[in-house]
Amino acid sequence: MQCDVLTLFPESIRAVTSQSIVKRAQEKGLLHLTVHNIRDYADRPHFNADDTPYGGGEGMVMKAEPIFRAIDALRNDTHDLRIILPSPQGIPFTQGQAHALSCESRRLVFICGHYEGIDERVRSTLLAEEISVGDYVLTGGELPAMIMIDAAVRLIPGVLGDPLSAQHDSFAESLLDYPHYTRPSEVRGSTVPDILSSGNHEAIRRWRRKEALRNTLVKRPDLLNRHTLNEEDQLLLDEILQEQPHMTSS
Ligand code: SAM
Repeated sequence: MQCDVLTLFPESIRAVTSQSIVKRAQEKGLLHLTVHNIRDYADRPHFNADDTPYGGGEGMVMKAEPIFRAIDALRNDTHDLRIILPSPQGIPFTQGQAHALSCESRRLVFICGHYEGIDERVRSTLLAEEISVGDYVLTGGELPAMIMIDAAVRLIPGVLGDPLSAQHDSFAESLLDYPHYTRPSEVRGSTVPDILSSGNHEAIRRWRRKEALRNTLVKRPDLLNRHTLNEEDQLLLDEILQEQPHMTSS
């Protein structure tokens, strides 16, 4: 996966990319991430990348021209760019989109907004996709860009130590994950379900599937409407509803 992040605050991106999975993905050559300071493309001598808004009012707006120049510089390398504007006005980011990004052959370019946002002509001229990480407003697009990159990178084969670990993650198939436990077997009087120490792999698989369904039913019942229940899921759900008769599945 090849990503370019255009930002006024390169250090805030590097703080995240120099750690953990994203760092390891770069070391393994599975993620090529370049951070560009938009200010480097602004006019001398002051390198201003923002200005006051037309029409007056609060705050500053990021100028279009430095961003266009940064994109032109990237296009000197390749025209095959997918340009993403993190924005609270965008379509909601989902696990499905993380998967699509992880398979994307085009170079992904994230343009991080700040202040009141970016001059509207950037979006309309570049036909950039606006993607939101949630219905709230953050200070800048750096965290949203990193959220999208992080969620996509861990789905690239070879990035996670165990390739199967993402397979059961929440949202992988419109269900939440099952509960996890580690040693010791008892913590402050609370024990691990016996079945997990039974060594019976089939019973453990079935228990995990049931608890994933229970988690989803309890915490995010809306997801169950998007999940196609197979015969076993239906059976397990019936068992859960018998155990917890106050719950409903619709
Ligand atoms: N005035 C803008 C609005 O209300 O739509 C919000 C600007 S916000 C303070 C500055 C930048 O943070 C945005 O340009 C965007 O890049 C980023 N941002 C803020 N919230 C976001 C969200 N929920 N999802 C993605 N990006 C977001």
